[in-house]
Amino acid sequence: MTDPTAMSYGNRKPHFVLVPFFAQGHMIPMIGLARLLMLQGVAVSVVTTPGNIARCKAIVDRANAAGLLIRFIELRLPCAEVGLSEGCECFDLVPSVELFRNFHEGLSLLREPLLLYLRQQCPKPSCIISDAFTPWTREIARELRVPRFVYHSPSCFFLLCTRNVRKHKSGVDAFERFLVPDFPHEVEVVRAQSSGFFDHPGFEKLRDEVAEAESTADGLVMNSFRELEAAFIDSYQKSLEKKVWAIGPVCLTNKETGDKVTRGNMMNVDENYIKNWLDAKETASVIYVSFGSIASHSASHLIEIGLGLEASKRPFVWVIREKEMRPEVARFLSEGFEERTKGLILRGWAPQVLILSHPSVGGFMTHCGWNSTLEAVSAGVPMLTWAHFFDQFLNEKLVVEILRIGVALKANTSIGYMVDDAEGLITREDVEKAVTELLAGAEAEERRKRAKELAEKAKKSMETGSSCQDLRLMIRHALELADEASDA
Ligand code: UDP
Repeated sequence: MTDPTAMSYGNRKPHFVLVPFFAQGHMIPMIGLARLLMLQGVAVSVVTTPGNIARCKAIVDRANAAGLLIRFIELRLPCAEVGLSEGCECFDLVPSVELFRNFHEGLSLLREPLLLYLRQQCPKPSCIISDAFTPWTREIARELRVPRFVYHSPSCFFLLCTRNVRKHKSGVDAFERFLVPDFPHEVEVVRAQSSGFFDHPGFEKLRDEVAEAESTADGLVMNSFRELEAAFIDSYQKSLEKKVWAIGPVCLTNKETGDKVTRGNMMNVDENYIKNWLDAKETASVIYVSFGSIASHSASHLIEIGLGLEASKRPFVWVIREKEMRPEVARFLSEGFEERTKGLILRGWAPQVLILSHPSVGGFMTHCGWNSTLEAVSAGVPMLTWAHFFDQFLNEKLVVEILRIGVALKANTSIGYMVDDAEGLITREDVEKAVTELLAGAEAEERRKRAKELAEKAKKSMETGSSCQDLRLMIRHALELADEASDA
């Protein structure tokens, strides 16, 4: 069912092709964007692979059952050709940092088959919206002469900051502190924690291609909303001289329990069990602990987190990924910890949006992935932040310093890449102290109030406010460009 207030397109049927980057943090919001477009009466096809269909089929089936027919363009990812094992079709399955480049390379080989497929489509698509990490879609759009928008998965705060740091501070020492130049707020950073996704040795070619694909795009689509970071969105728009549409938080498209439960991977536990567990807890008393789909921790870190949670004496839901379940961790959990604490430990994939929206959840210990951050914002849940890599350090700054809806676990001195299996970064005392600070006292109350206000703004923005308007403006602009291209 489309939105009764959706725009009308006369005789034409707009058709958008969405090209996600194959990582949970990119695909989940891209499916959300597909649903938003469908609600506006736009036909949508999403590029995917057999392995990724398995992960998003349940949510797409639900959309289809509700009359929002999302189509897949299924292509084969040539894993073996780039040195990856067969089936390594999603970023969280890439076994080591050394193989990240191979994954990007494999993805870029989808250019020819996708072009071939789209050439055979009549009429041709009205617009391509492709993830910023798929710069090879630029040639496809150019060949087909269709408009192309870049979808950015991180915050605009991050995009603007890294752009300005690269422009003005690329020569400074990795850990020298400085104020971000040309920035709407006074924010102090170090270069090691404010570099772009591909500002690392070995990724220069991809970095340049991504920048080129952005600078030649017909517009930029952000999973964000103006009330959250208007100053950064406006500055970024000005700096790139490009239209920017903030159409999020797209997680708010998941209104029903079934939608919240079917996002991403399959779960190992029944959602009613989780719901009943949370129902039995007091309002805003539970701390939810999860670090997204990619980060993984050493056994010693997990044990410190566990002991810190226990010492805080707060009820908790703690998500531990399958690959983190090493024998020492399994032993630690089973030899008394679970019994003593009565915490809820979820092994594998958790229904994060469902958990965050439960009134018993009073705090979220997070790595500050942008989706997790937006999901906490949308649910009005204050955050206990521990950034691990990529954009997470800057998202953490936005949450703690600008929005003031979070507490940092401790001063973070990691470098902006992977800290998997690092040792000694946090202790049980850090965790206990930070959980207590987040959940108790007058300041915690103020923080919660601010978080709730922001959640209200997010909701309004998606229902009738700026995000809803930006979505419509984006569709209209795409159709105008498509008309111009076909007249030319
Ligand atoms: N997610 C989830 N259950 C899990 C782990 C992750 O639903 O057990 C979802 C989470 O809600 C978010 C996405 O996966 O939408 C992770 O994206 P984010 O940007 O937060 O972090 P990343 O995984 O990219 O580091």
